[in-house]
This record gives sequence, structure tokens and C-alpha cells, in this order.
Amino acid sequence: MPTTLDLLRKYSVPGPRYTSYPTAPYFHTGFGEADWAEALAAPAAGRGLSLYAHIPFCDSLCYYCGCNMVATRDYGKTVPYLAAIEREMAETAARIDASRVAHQLHWGGGTPTYLSPDDIRRLMAIMKQHFRIAPDAEISCEVDPRELTRAHLEALRESGFNRVSFGVQDMDPAVQQAVNRIQSAELIRQVMDWSRELGFSSINLDLIVGLPKQTVESFRRTLAQVVEWAPDRLAVFAYAHVPWMKKHQQLIQEADLPDAAVRLGLQQAVNERLGEAGYVNIGLDHFARPEDELVRAQQNKTLWRNFQGYTTHKDSDILAFGVSSISQTADVYMQNEKNLKRYQTRVGYTGFAVERGIRLSRDDRIRRDAITRVMCDLELDFAAFGREWDIGFADYFAEALADLQPLADDGLVELGTERVAVTERGRLFLRNIGMCFDRYLKEAATGDRLRYSRTA
Ligand code: SF4
Repeated sequence: MPTTLDLLRKYSVPGPRYTSYPTAPYFHTGFGEADWAEALAAPAAGRGLSLYAHIPFCDSLCYYCGCNMVATRDYGKTVPYLAAIEREMAETAARIDASRVAHQLHWGGGTPTYLSPDDIRRLMAIMKQHFRIAPDAEISCEVDPRELTRAHLEALRESGFNRVSFGVQDMDPAVQQAVNRIQSAELIRQVMDWSRELGFSSINLDLIVGLPKQTVESFRRTLAQVVEWAPDRLAVFAYAHVPWMKKHQQLIQEADLPDAAVRLGLQQAVNERLGEAGYVNIGLDHFARPEDELVRAQQNKTLWRNFQGYTTHKDSDILAFGVSSISQTADVYMQNEKNLKRYQTRVGYTGFAVERGIRLSRDDRIRRDAITRVMCDLELDFAAFGREWDIGFADYFAEALADLQPLADDGLVELGTERVAVTERGRLFLRNIGMCFDRYLKEAATGDRLRYSRTA
């Protein structure tokens, strides 16, 4: 039986994270504003709304960053941006059924708390003016602890936010230096104390493994510190080193990046320490307390995956506003312009800035469901899935089942005639397991695959 390190070396290939299927590289420019307008106007009986606003501005650049962001100290840039986002919301709201209710709302970036407390209040007031938001909606914001004041958190709380997610990444000074993100333990402790005092019901921390200068020993210290802070949820992402796509990642010295053995040690340290502290590993990157709704949803098989990671809101359309943001209806994905100026100019003309998108075929929807079930439930019952989609599973997925066989031989999945289930060992390789069901990836040229980060 190969060791886990052998498997890591074997299965570490470029591959998607499956926050969508088809994945973003397959969205195309043939999908335009008329298609998006049609998707917005389509009947959506029973489907809720999930609203997203992208605030791209940051005070400084973290070298590992993979987001669509603009590092600037010129606050004036927010003025035309907020005007554009307001117009985009107004035009979108005018095209959907006004009785639809949002049960989830999220601000991401960039750094949403780059906005001043007054602008935080103003942007939320605009969202509430255009959309109906359920009184018990889950309202969350990504927060950069640096440059954050208590007044920012007060503005979020007064605006109705009940969840915050702090970017911690790594507490080791050498790592922080290597990625240009310096933040002390006192700072994190302070912002967490403020959040608790202000009554946020869920406090999440984000960590990253695979950063330059990280060692298993140093990261154990970060984990010990984080466990002491007792967040409600943790997201532990693997650093995606794609300097050919994100040029600023060239500022990271490749020689400083941990090798496969250290990456495995980091992952094992995460699983051990967070497991000991009582967190449940939900699947790819996410940990939560046993009573958390994500854990309950996984047990009930109602967990879903979208651009914000794992969610309990499966039957919601995502309406996303701002530069580069991705919206989603039952059978459409749409991405906005990725360039800030072009986004603002285009919204100024028509109220929309569609860059590309895709309308899903029935096959896309079937495969999306199969990949999502594997990544959320960690198993797939062939007969039940076949009944749901009216297909003979073994015939429809003959190629996928053949592709899964080597993974079964390596102990990553248990593969029988009735079901496939991810093993404990296989949890590190969820993306590789999902890839067996991905028709686009099979047909992709090798060069196309390089658009993804490595799976392990
Ligand atoms: S704060 Fe976040 S979005 Fe901004 S540069 Fe750092 S990682 Fe990127």
C-alpha cells in the first residue's frame, strides 16, 4: 500500500476546487447581457436569493493573494465604484420577481472593511432598498483585522451583519514577512473580543497552508493560538501558487515554498489539532463545531457547494454585484467584467457588465450534482442518484467509474456496484475524486489544465 506521501506526489496535479461546475474557465463570451436579462426574468418558483457584493479595494498587497483586488490608498476610488454597484443592484432588482426573499447575504473582496463605517451603512441601506432580506438571514462579511476599528464592526452590526470572517492565515513572523501580511496576536485577539462584545453570532477564521517559510512546527504554534481563540468555524485553504496567472505571486520565492512532505505534515497537523479541539472536518478546507448547521446539513445530506464554499442554501440563486463577481441561477453562471474601469464604464451605460457566462446543459447539471454529492456527502448512492435524474448510473457514468478504479486501488474511495464513498485517506484528495466526473477536464488540452492550482 503506498504511503500518503506517495499518494500526495502522485495525485498533486492541476485541478478545480469545484465551487462551480462547469468551472469558470468554461464560461464564454458568447453569453451576454441579453442572456443574463433572460435568466433574471425566468420563473424561479421556490428558489431563494443569496446576495453577494464584491469590494475589491485593499490597503496593501498580500503576495499570496488570488482574489480580484486593487491595492490603493486612494479612498476616492470607492466613490465611482459604489455608484456603479448601486446602479447594478437597481437594474437587477427591477428584473426579478419582487416577492423573492434573500436568506443569505455576503460581502467579500478585496477587503469589504476598506469601506468607511458610513459607507458600510450606506451600501447595506442600498441593498435593503432593492431586495427583501429575511429577518433571520445569514449576513456575513470578510474582515481584514489590520486597519480595522471598532467603529467598522459597529457599522457592520448595526447594518444587520451577524457573521464575520477574519483572515488570519499564519501567525509566524517569518511567514508573515514572506507574504507581506504582518498582524500580531494582540490585534487578532482585540478584533475577536470586539466581535463577541458586539454580538456577532458566528466568528470564522481563515488560515492558509502551503505558504512560504511555513514549517510543521511553526504552524503547530499558529494552530495552538487559533484553538485558544475558539472561533466557531475555520477555513483552512491550501495556497494556490499560480504566478503565471497572478503575477504578484512572483514576489514569493519558490525556494521558500514547503515541499510535498511538509505540505502533508501541515495538513496532518491541521486535522489532528482541530480534531482534538472538537472541530468536525466538513470536507474540502472547512471545519466547524459539531452543533454547527453545516455539520448538521452534511449529516442530513442537504449540504451544497457554491462560490462561497460550503452552504446550507442549495436552492438559492446567487445575485452577485461588483467587479469580477459571479452570479448563479439554477442553470446559468454569469461573471462580471474583471477590470475595475471597464466594470464601472459598462454599468454606467446599461446597468450591467456581463463579461462571460454559461447556460448549463442537462449533462452539466447531472455532473454538477454528482460532483457536489461527493464533495459534500462524501458518498454517492448510484440507485438513488439514478432515480433522481432518470438515468442508469452505471451506463451514464461508465467512464467516471473506470477513472475511479485506480483511486479505489489506492484506498482513496470504496467503490462498489451500489455506491462510492470517500475514505478517511481520500479526504485529502476530494478534488481528484470530483475530477473523475468532469467531462470538460477530460476533453481539455493539457495547457488548459494549467489554469487550475494543484489539487494536493
Ligand atoms: S487583504 Fe485579501 S484580497 Fe487584499 S491583498 Fe490581502 S489576500 Fe488579497
